[in-house]
Amino acid sequence: MVRVWQLAGGLLAAAIVVFLNLGQAAPTQALDPLSAANTQWQQASFPVENFQAYTSPFGYRSDPYGGDQRFHYGLDMAAPSGSYIRSWWGGQVIEVSDDSSCGTSVVVQSGNWMHIYCHMQGYVTQDGSGRYMLDNEGGLRIREGQLVDTGMRIGRIGMTGRTTGPHLHWGLKYNDNWVDPALVLRAMYSSQQAAIGGQ
Ligand SMILES: [Zn+2]
Repeated sequence: MVRVWQLAGGLLAAAIVVFLNLGQAAPTQALDPLSAANTQWQQASFPVENFQAYTSPFGYRSDPYGGDQRFHYGLDMAAPSGSYIRSWWGGQVIEVSDDSSCGTSVVVQSGNWMHIYCHMQGYVTQDGSGRYMLDNEGGLRIREGQLVDTGMRIGRIGMTGRTTGPHLHWGLKYNDNWVDPALVLRAMYSSQQAAIGGQ
């Protein structure tokens, strides 16, 4: 599983480098390793149950509070409050937090990838074994250091932190560099469609 993951990560990293180097005018072929050619993406999990809409893309936008231009380091995905959030890929929980603009959040490390889930329900507390995110109503207790499987429920949509409505702010980093999650979702979709088509 780890080797499969590293292969997927390597291919995507290569694709992103190509994409960044060529900029907006990049021919679509440059993104091929991100799409159907990479069958590993079939295993990844869409991170939100009861997904409704993408409400804010990765990139510059007017700040919903102050109106000034700021970079938005993630993809906002709206869903009804209380909907479950699933881990995009298997890995290890490296941080739980509830004291930043990200609100109640969980960070998972999967190889070179870091995936960040913000504005969830619940709060962070601790016991003799360490810190954990507790969401009693959702039946969730996510501990720092614990391993999670792809698709495992790791939180629920809420409104903690800096947000104007219930949504998941989903952040992705590869080797400590922010990546547009929409690129990854597109690759997953293409790969899964190819599988359905029997390619
Ligand atoms: Zn956001």
